Amino acid sequence: MGLVVQKYGGTSVKDAERVMNVARRVTDTYQKGNNVVVVVSAQGDTTDELIEKAMEINPSPSKREMDMLLSTGEQISISLLAMAIEKLGFPVVSMTGWQAGFRTDSTYGAARIHEINADRIENELDKRRIVIVAGFQGINKYDDIVTLGRGGSDTSAVALAAVLGADVCEIYTDVDGVFTADPRFVKTAYKLDEISYDEMLELASLGANVLHNRSVELAKKYNVKLAVKSSLNNNEGTYVKEVDQVEKMIVRGVTRDNDCARIALCGVEDTPGKAFQIFSLLSKNGIGVDLIIQSIGNGTQKDISFTTTEGDLDKALEVMDGNRSVLKVQDIKWSKDVSKVSIVGAGMVNNVGVAAKMFEALYNAHININMIATSEIKISVLVDQKDAERAVVAIHDKFLV
Ligand code: ASP
Ligand code: MG
Repeated sequence: MGLVVQKYGGTSVKDAERVMNVARRVTDTYQKGNNVVVVVSAQGDTTDELIEKAMEINPSPSKREMDMLLSTGEQISISLLAMAIEKLGFPVVSMTGWQAGFRTDSTYGAARIHEINADRIENELDKRRIVIVAGFQGINKYDDIVTLGRGGSDTSAVALAAVLGADVCEIYTDVDGVFTADPRFVKTAYKLDEISYDEMLELASLGANVLHNRSVELAKKYNVKLAVKSSLNNNEGTYVKEVDQVEKMIVRGVTRDNDCARIALCGVEDTPGKAFQIFSLLSKNGIGVDLIIQSIGNGTQKDISFTTTEGDLDKALEVMDGNRSVLKVQDIKWSKDVSKVSIVGAGMVNNVGVAAKMFEALYNAHININMIATSEIKISVLVDQKDAERAVVAIHDKFLV
């Protein structure tokens, strides 16, 4: 008998009709003789609506109470889905993250799973029940409910698949799988049949918005067979695998991330230790830094620019401004109107000229590059936000059409 973990995202359970649709898919899998564990997200935009409700009352609530609130979205979904499955006449039980044994660290709002005690789930499976688990949540050492960060249900599902030794972890969404670029504005984008864990991890971290990046990290670490599919049809979907099992492509996908802000420190004193001072101040204050560029100093002064997320911008500016005299910075400039556009592909490693081709595509589209960063399997550029969609289209069409 097989064991299948399925995860259904918010759009797949957004209303009664969709919940019934999921119930039928789950029971079909069960009837084929499999044990089935299902992880669900909150219905539709529930999580966003809960955040709005909180903001109406208190714009800066404690993270503990925020997690208490946000975890309720998934609880609605698990009970409704269990009721739908009951109606179809199958044995089923729903569980909160806590009942399912998810223990996490104490970081409210972005907790990491420490362990899953799956005894209760295994007991239920032995009785041939379908088990429905609330995604995105667990409890910490104080027995408080915590959430795993936005999009965290994917991670709940992969972690469960790893612990239970599932044959496959299927992530169901409202698109057919992982695409070469966002099909909403790249008309020529197409679905990939397969992708490596490393490429998927980069795409997820660079704004592709299909899988929670931590879920991919876990899948790679525990060798979980992962598939991304649509809950609205029976198409094949995209399989995420080890690098040596997939055909190497120079570029597998193009992404855009608008959640970027750039800070430029102009006229920084050109002496050793300045970068160290700046970036240790940022890291001490918990501010994540992404792209960095430093100009060649003229002996007395240089410029250092870096990007962070829009959410961290104010804090970063405050820290830089507060240390102006220590850092010996003349001027601080910033902008939120920037986007990061990236290409990802494992075949890039041994291929010279990939960067040149990407820059050529941008040049032909008259798009200016503000910053560049490269690694083994990705190249990112920072462009003005107004140019970002055009940049993705131009680069996608250069490499993938
Ligand atoms: N409901 C949560 C969110 O919207 C978790 C998830 O959907 O994975 O972020
Ligand atoms: Mg998601």
